Formats: sequence, C-alpha cells, structure tokens
Amino acid sequence: MKISLLGFLFLSFSFFAKAHQQDSVVIKRLFDLSLTNGESYENLRVLCKTIGHRLSGSPQAAKAVVWGKKVMENAGFDKVYLQEVMVPHWVRGTKEAAALTLMNNPKTKDGMPVTQKMKISVLGGSVGTNGITTGEVIEVKDLAELDQLGEANIKGKIVFYNRPFDPTYIQTFKAYGHCVDQRVDGASKAAKYGAKGVIIRSMAHGHGDHPHTGSVRYTDSLPKIPAAAISTVSADLIADELAKGRKVFFSMEFDCQLLPDVLSYNVIGEMKGSVYPDQVISVGGHLDSWDIGEGAHDDGAGCVQSMEALRMLKVLGVKPRHTLRAVLFMNEENGLRGGKKYAELASASGEKHVAALESDRGGFVPRGFSIEGSAAQVKWLESLSPLLKSYDLHYFEEGGTGADISPLKKYFPDIVLFGFVPDSQRYFDHHHAETDVFENVNKRELELGAASMAALVYLIDYHLLK
Ligand SMILES: [Zn+2]
Repeated sequence: MKISLLGFLFLSFSFFAKAHQQDSVVIKRLFDLSLTNGESYENLRVLCKTIGHRLSGSPQAAKAVVWGKKVMENAGFDKVYLQEVMVPHWVRGTKEAAALTLMNNPKTKDGMPVTQKMKISVLGGSVGTNGITTGEVIEVKDLAELDQLGEANIKGKIVFYNRPFDPTYIQTFKAYGHCVDQRVDGASKAAKYGAKGVIIRSMAHGHGDHPHTGSVRYTDSLPKIPAAAISTVSADLIADELAKGRKVFFSMEFDCQLLPDVLSYNVIGEMKGSVYPDQVISVGGHLDSWDIGEGAHDDGAGCVQSMEALRMLKVLGVKPRHTLRAVLFMNEENGLRGGKKYAELASASGEKHVAALESDRGGFVPRGFSIEGSAAQVKWLESLSPLLKSYDLHYFEEGGTGADISPLKKYFPDIVLFGFVPDSQRYFDHHHAETDVFENVNKRELELGAASMAALVYLIDYHLLK
C-alpha cells in the first residue's frame, strides 16, 4: 500500500495529537491526585516534626533513613533498599557564643566601650575556638581584597566577610552563587594572612536576625581557623560602626568537632521498567540537612516530592517503560558522599542510567525545569511548553540541575539531567537557617511540585527516551 506524503503527514499528525491528548489526561490526573489525595505534605510533617534536622552522622539522620525506607515500602514499590555510604560526622558541640565590643561609643556617657551578645551559627566543618577567640574586626567585600590588605593589616584580626546578595538578580541562586565563596573559602584565605578567625555575613537577601549556616572548606596546607555566620542585621550593624571609623572587637567561643566517619545510607525505592528494565531514570532529593531548623525546604521537600512522584504514577497505574527510582541521597550538605556513592555503584553494577531529576531548591511554587543534555534534549524540554502551560510551568532552560545527580555524568556521559525549578524568591529566607521548618512550607505549593515532577518523569519515560 502506498501512502502519499500528505497522507503520511496526516497520519503522523493524528498519532502525535492522540499521544498528546493522552499525555494531557495523565498529567491532569497526576495534578488532581497530588492536590486531593497527595501524601507529600503529611510525609514532610512526619519527617520535620518527629525527626527534625538530620545532619550526616547524627542519630536523626539514622532515623530519617528508617523513615524513608518505610514510606517507600508503604507506597508498594517493587523494591526498596539501602545503599551503604560512609559519611563525615561533624558535631556543633554545646557552646556557641559570641559578643561584639564597640569602642569609643558615643551612646555611652564617657565614650566607653559597650559589649553586646551576638547570635552566631558556626559553619559546618569549622574547628572549635579552643577557648575564646577575640580580635579586632576587619571588613572585606571579597577574597581578592585580602591580597591587597596583606599580612600587615590582617594578622591577629578577625576577618569579616560582608559582600551582600545582589538584589538585582531575579533568580536568587545567582546572587547566592556570587557570594558563597566568602563562606566556603573565606577562612583559609584569611588564615593565609594570619587571621585568628572569620565571621561571614549570612547568605541571604533579607534583613533577618537569624544566622544562616553552611559549610566551610579548609585548605590543608594552611592553619584551620574558626568560622561562623552572623545575621544580615548583625552584619549591617558592624559595617555601620566601621564606616563611622570606630573600632570593633569580636569574640567567639565554640566547641564543635569533627568525629570519625560514620556508616550511613542512601535510601532507594524502585519500580521495574516494563520495556527497558535495565535502564534507569532516577528522581531524588537529599535526606540530610543542616543541624538547625528542620530541613523542610532543604531538602525534606525534595525527598517527599521524589517519593510522591513515583507513588502517584503507581496509583494511577502508569506502567513505567524504564526502571524508575526514587533516591534519598545522604550527605549532600557537607560532603556529597551519597551522590558520589550512588553514581559509583550505578556504574559498577553495569546498569545504564539514562536520566535523572533532582529537587533541591525548596518546596515553592513550581516554575519549570532546568536541563543538562544535548541540543535535541533541550529542544524536547522546550517543546513541552504547550502541554504544561496550564500548570504555570514555563521555565525550560539549560543550566545547573542538582548536586546529588551530577556525579552520574562522570560514568554516564550520555545521561540527561533535570533540575526541578520552583520560584526562588523566598528560598534564601530559610536556607540553612532555624526558620527552615515545616510551617514555612505551603501545602499546595509542595503538592504542585510533586505533580510537576511526576509529569516530567512520565514524559521522559514515555517520550524522551524511546
Ligand atoms: Zn539542599
């Protein structure tokens, strides 16, 4: 039978139209399910309120592993298992105090110094102060400034990194990216010139009075000096004093320490593929969190959304073509050991990993997805726009996807990676802070995110990878 070109085009069009129609039905059902009978919010409540924050190596992290396994077993996945990984075990300790002394203070009658307590959050991985560390404060805006100041101006002092977030970046992760070198590398850079310690302006937009923690990275060849974050309010107060030409002294005391590595786990749940069982699509978030707040947005949200995405596909009876995996990665915050281990074992097992999606930007209202893949794959993601428009998903762009899934690229160069992109405006209000709690996650926004991720996983499984 001969088919004319026009006939062929018509047949192709009706096939795609039909497929498209079917897709929109599945996607609608996923959103309906998430918003009416979703389990992501209740799962997040249990994680945050019965376990709480869960830094790698902590008893709470161990409890979270048991919890994640149970949630996936209850969802009825084909296989649920733990993957061993050794993780760093840093503990904050029991002391965390600081005080600021303002010299020549005009507010006091005789211009005598005044001392006030200051809230700090020791940076993860920092050494303790071993007694009280006190020094005159010297303010810098970036790491390069230290080279100009040199040892003569820095030795024996406490370096105060005070480059603020640039509010003109619409995507707040860009503002974070342009500041975070102060927190990560600031201590070693200051130690090189003889500083006693460092204090860092919190990585946040807002004018808040709670410090935001995060990790510090030491250079082995340089002395390790104590490092702590102060709130943006405290940072502005110190900067004001210094701008008036007054001397400021800072003292801090904390007894955090790095203990030997601890055995922990990635938690994995799997639905076997019906067509390509040996080809894996992973969707995940990280189970560990910083040890203040409850790790609700970062990244409890990503964990519950990942498990929910697979659970909803199962409930709706969608038969996965490739093997789908929900992965709760351990130790993203201070080591990435879980992500590295997952990729290493994926490679060693001879599995083929074809795609991965990560949610680690908070449980806020979904905007779309980022992608790291070939030009054709980027085009494919962009082509989903008409299908996903009615869910307000419109951000489909090439760019960074997720820390935990990034090691997969090393072993599977052809893998396509996706990052779930929610609205970022309020993320850094709570990031690594005591306010990252369950109450600050909106139920509806979290559920919309879970449904968006499920929709993308479905489309990758059925259309992107044939
Ligand atoms: Zn995170």
